[in-house]
Amino acid sequence: MHDPASRLLAIRARTILSLAGEVPARGARLFAPLKKMDNAVLLVRDGLVEEVRPWAAGHLPPGTEVRDVGPVCLAPAVVNAHTHIQLSWLAGQTLWHKGFAAWLGSLIPLLRSGQAETVAQAITEACEGVAAMGTCHLGDVGGSLRGSVSCVQAACRAAQIEVTHFCEWFGYGPPFTDDLFPWPQHCRQEIENNPALAADCAPAGHALYSTGPTVLQAAHRFCMEQGRPFSFHLAESPEETELLTSGQGPLHSCYAGSVLPEGWQPPGLRPLAYAASLGLLGRGSLAVHGVQLDAQEVDVLAASGTALCLCPRSNRNLAVGTAPVRALLESGALLCLGTDGLTSNSDLDVRQEAVYLREHMDIPPEALVRMLTINGAAALGLAGSVGSLAPGVPARFCLLPEALTY
Ligand SMILES: [Zn+2]
Repeated sequence: MHDPASRLLAIRARTILSLAGEVPARGARLFAPLKKMDNAVLLVRDGLVEEVRPWAAGHLPPGTEVRDVGPVCLAPAVVNAHTHIQLSWLAGQTLWHKGFAAWLGSLIPLLRSGQAETVAQAITEACEGVAAMGTCHLGDVGGSLRGSVSCVQAACRAAQIEVTHFCEWFGYGPPFTDDLFPWPQHCRQEIENNPALAADCAPAGHALYSTGPTVLQAAHRFCMEQGRPFSFHLAESPEETELLTSGQGPLHSCYAGSVLPEGWQPPGLRPLAYAASLGLLGRGSLAVHGVQLDAQEVDVLAASGTALCLCPRSNRNLAVGTAPVRALLESGALLCLGTDGLTSNSDLDVRQEAVYLREHMDIPPEALVRMLTINGAAALGLAGSVGSLAPGVPARFCLLPEALTY
């Protein structure tokens, strides 16, 4: 029983998709019709969903506050499973449309130039922005800038959104030892200063060529033991494939003598095969991008249980190619969406990734809405309260863009 004095809020919309009772969707389940209710109302008591039901003004208890959001489709708040909030201060400063190595070459010199105040201000604005876009949870790559994890944590808390911090190990050295684990240097200092932060953190890899294999394996092992998602960029660019298979190409020019250790030898494998050989695939792993996967690799990824976060607008902006989205949808892989950061995207509105896939690849809205909500929650290992408007869960919702509405 609720406290009779507690406040009831009624949010009326043309259509409400609650996704109540839905489970993470793979393969054909992604395309199943979503239950929708037209001329509906979301009843909220003390911040929790009480019910979604047909609108009938006379049936609301006296004193109910009614908010009519108009002729829109209301859905559970969305999950942005991959972003880089700490780099938000670099918005508009990197080189796009010329390939991955050209983008990276434009980014690296900028990374050390950030003033703490500028970085923090951009983090605050980014978090306020994603909250206003109806985002309830971020999978955020952090840790390369000193203090950034704590800063993102505070900004998310102020904006009333949750965050999983992917504390990213970058590079091959100094020599990795168990007592250095699990947090990369900057994150370790932040967690020592604020031990509560560790609960929202997961050690992560950057990519198969930029993080040493033993570090990737140790981070993966820690995440599996702790029940946390293990995330890394996978098969993003043709340059990545070239470097891993032949040891050549523009990424080698970029990283030789700085990131790659002396005498580094390529594994001679394509990205997915290399990830598999290191034991990085499987349930609990969240790969990001998957642009370069071929048909057979799509099936291998799906069979492994690895989740994949697609970032289609970032891929377009960096001109790295287009992920095989149709094949991935049909493969049975667990798929979700992310914006990547503002160095490769114009905004952090993950709903716009879905709009892009709707408009450019004709992906049906049923699949896209599931990827934005319950699948994003599952890919980040979140409890059942994220991604639906079932009774009893926090009442966090978004308005769907017109292209995704039913
Ligand atoms: Zn990224």
